[in-house]
Amino acid sequence: MKSGRSDYLVRATALDGRVRAFAVDSTGVTAELSGRHGTEPAVTAALGRLATGALMFSAMLKKSQHTVSIRILGDGPAGVLLAAANGNGEVRGLVGRPVTGADQVSNGKLNVAGVVGRNGRLTVTRDLGLRHPYVGVVELVSGEVGEDLAHYLVSSEQTPSAVGVGVFVGGGGEVAAAGGWMVQLLPGVPTADATRIEDAIRGLPHPTTMIRSGDTPEDVLARIFPSGFESLDRLPVRFHCPCTAERVERALSLLGEAEVRSILEKDRAGGITEVTCEFCGERYTLDTAAMEAIAVRARR
Ligand code: ZN
Repeated sequence: MKSGRSDYLVRATALDGRVRAFAVDSTGVTAELSGRHGTEPAVTAALGRLATGALMFSAMLKKSQHTVSIRILGDGPAGVLLAAANGNGEVRGLVGRPVTGADQVSNGKLNVAGVVGRNGRLTVTRDLGLRHPYVGVVELVSGEVGEDLAHYLVSSEQTPSAVGVGVFVGGGGEVAAAGGWMVQLLPGVPTADATRIEDAIRGLPHPTTMIRSGDTPEDVLARIFPSGFESLDRLPVRFHCPCTAERVERALSLLGEAEVRSILEKDRAGGITEVTCEFCGERYTLDTAAMEAIAVRARR
């Protein structure tokens, strides 16, 4: 649907640094997530919204190797949804059940809350390279993802925030547009300015309406801040899974020797153990000798 355009995120400030803002076009990322996981439209929208949010959360990280992952476990049929992004603008995601068979449309919109569930939890884990990751948890407020992310920022991080995320899925199930914006008011914003920003946000078209009409992330920010904003950087964003054969072997060895041997026994007839990365679908095959070596490693 979009040609010659690639996904990117803009990090910006306004009102002399007292407002933090982000906007992103994540159409390509969402299309790749959908393609890799074979999601039905409502799940495509749920996962795409979550990945879009994770990319904006990751834009708050100080270092490129830091990561943020956002996990939603609602009472809907899609099961767990997870998106993880790093400071380089790389994101990956997974969903428990890509095809739920639930009604895909509700009130003329993709039935995101219907597949996610309206009750459950949203967990944000930030790995900042410290001994322990920083973890925050809130209850879901709507299961529509955007409101849940805003609720997290307001209640868990005590920052007045607004989040808009959207995914438009075409008639053939293809991702036609995806993206979002996020605005945070830091201490010291005059009430009149805060009101003006809130009014602008209230009058904002849906994120995918803006993207489909040709708005860039900068155009979206210009709608929110008609009197101007300062763009800090423009970061290309893309789907990327850091899995490698080595990481798969390490993960297997963490299961312990007994578990590795039991997998090995089960797969011995074929001589091959196949491991699929749940984030990207990449298949790794290990022969008997490789599995034996992992079992020995798992003993330590
Ligand atoms: Zn992978």
